[in-house]
Amino acid sequence: MDARRIAVVDRDRCNPRKCGQECIKFCPRVRAGEEDTIRLEDGFLVIDEDLCMGCGICVKKCPFSALFIVNLPAPLEGEEIHRYGVNGFVLFRLPIVRMGSVVGLVGPNGIGKTTIMRILSGELVPNLGDPHAELDWDEVIRRFRGTEIQNYLERLAGGRVRVVHKPERIDLLPRAFPGTLREALERADERGVARELAEELGLSDLMDRKLSELSGGELQRVAAIAASSKEADVYMFDEPCNYLDVFQRMRIASVIRGLAEAGKGVLVVEHDLAVLDYLSDYIHVLYGVRGVFGVVSYPHGTREGINIFLDGYLPDDNVRFREYSISFSRRSTAGKVETLPLVSYSELVKEYDSAFRLTVEPGELRAGEVVVAVGPNGIGKTTFVSMLAGVIEPTSGEVLAEDIKVAYKPQYVRPEQDGTVYSLLKSMAGSQLSSSFFRAEVLHRLGVDGLMDRRLSELSGGELQRVAVAATLGMDADIYLLDEPSAFLDVEMRLALAKAIKRRVEGEDRAAIVVEHDLITIEALADRIILFTGDPGVEGHASSPMPVERGMNEFLREVGITFRRDPRTGRPRVNKPGSRLDVEARASGRYYA
Ligand code: ADP
Ligand code: ADP
Repeated sequence: MDARRIAVVDRDRCNPRKCGQECIKFCPRVRAGEEDTIRLEDGFLVIDEDLCMGCGICVKKCPFSALFIVNLPAPLEGEEIHRYGVNGFVLFRLPIVRMGSVVGLVGPNGIGKTTIMRILSGELVPNLGDPHAELDWDEVIRRFRGTEIQNYLERLAGGRVRVVHKPERIDLLPRAFPGTLREALERADERGVARELAEELGLSDLMDRKLSELSGGELQRVAAIAASSKEADVYMFDEPCNYLDVFQRMRIASVIRGLAEAGKGVLVVEHDLAVLDYLSDYIHVLYGVRGVFGVVSYPHGTREGINIFLDGYLPDDNVRFREYSISFSRRSTAGKVETLPLVSYSELVKEYDSAFRLTVEPGELRAGEVVVAVGPNGIGKTTFVSMLAGVIEPTSGEVLAEDIKVAYKPQYVRPEQDGTVYSLLKSMAGSQLSSSFFRAEVLHRLGVDGLMDRRLSELSGGELQRVAVAATLGMDADIYLLDEPSAFLDVEMRLALAKAIKRRVEGEDRAAIVVEHDLITIEALADRIILFTGDPGVEGHASSPMPVERGMNEFLREVGITFRRDPRTGRPRVNKPGSRLDVEARASGRYYA
């Protein structure tokens, strides 16, 4: 039997009034008289998946790149959960929700995580793949007879499951709630835990601030506390770690685990693999084609699930869903030729009205290297980077020589002007746009080449991040400063990002400093490390750049976690506190394996 074929039309792009309808004109089936194969219905393009031969001519001819014809990699017969309209995105299978457990979802953006959450929270009644069907829950439940999901959906349909959801877009919270943090938490606090959680997550001093006055990292914690304080049966967390430092990530992880330990069902979408690994009891791997279809794997144990994701091969479906495996070999810097110092800075001090004081050990950056700045939030990383960028003046000390050019991507990226991605890149990175090296190594790697005609105001958080990184790397600079470039990116994109940054500086008289909290991205990026320590919000201390091994070891000691390596993939795994490996690592002082 032929593999099943699906045809998807991106309705935002398809515009039959503005093109020559090449897709219809050039379709061999239409030319042979089978006119229903691809046709207009009430002005909308419709492709008949049974008649289509899958030649792909329409896909190539479409001037708006609006068509996708894809052979499904696995049978998946009868496993459709939802289809968004005729020739819309299709979701296959659902994850389990298990009381007392944390279920983690890992996979790229754009393949159905939000759709899954909408269905499992009862907001969307799925149509089981028939876009014309308007089903009620009974009809949906019948499909799941005899499975674990049946029981869950029955309770959901009967109004016996209350679901709470921590949204991905925390930047929208202040608009939804104009009051203070205290008021927000009081309103959410059905379980009487908000005050304690606020204390635990370091927000107690901010209670009288308005949400609109909080930083992204603070809002992220507020959102997690608000969700955890509600009385519910099931808690869903969509990317709970963006903007948080490693300390805060571990604390959020223990708050989330606490919910499961109290018997609640928990679903988490997270791209920080070290945290997801630490947090989850089960993993569902999601694979598919962005905007076209998404498949949920059967549940796996955490280690196995994440390894499947990294391997790119799912044995359940016998599907290779990525052409390559992701592996982690500890990069040895031993063989690396030490390049010449590119720039240096003296000891620096910055004081903000005696409220915060940062001291920076002198350092130099070498040509072609990437230095990663690690440490808690509020410790002065942005202050350091802004001093180097010449945005703020140090209280004492010498920053870079005047002729050193610095390109800077701040932590929060908001487009200042509207316009298209192309117009932004043209203004920031004009000369690089004609470089085939830059187009291949940065624009293509980051998938920005496919976004050129999109408006900045319509981009998702991840898309905006990729555009901002590409535009910054396209500037003609000696030093690239990138503040948390991995936020909102999926795992593949985080690794692509690391490559793009390295390619841009390698072998050149340039260097990069990257502020980063995702342990796996830190490893993929760092040639050396600057460690920030101190008392967040009070005083901070930045080390000179130091070797990765030493920097990571000291950093993990500060965070209070130890690592082991997964024997198969080499990926770092956080040891459970108090486990045998954890105790041994602490005793020997080897936090970083
Ligand atoms: P994720 O959360 O993994 O990024 P979503 O579940 O939001 O993915 O969406 C998956 C795909 O479904 C999107 O690429 C989009 O094309 C499509 N989609 C989402 N919502 C709708 C909708 N309301 N109508 C039509 N298509 C949609
Ligand atoms: P990080 O990047 O490590 O999160 P920052 O450099 O942004 O840290 O901030 C360090 C400390 O300095 C914080 O307590 C912050 O509130 C304070 N701070 C930052 N900018 C200013 C400023 N312009 N005026 C006063 N205090 C500031």
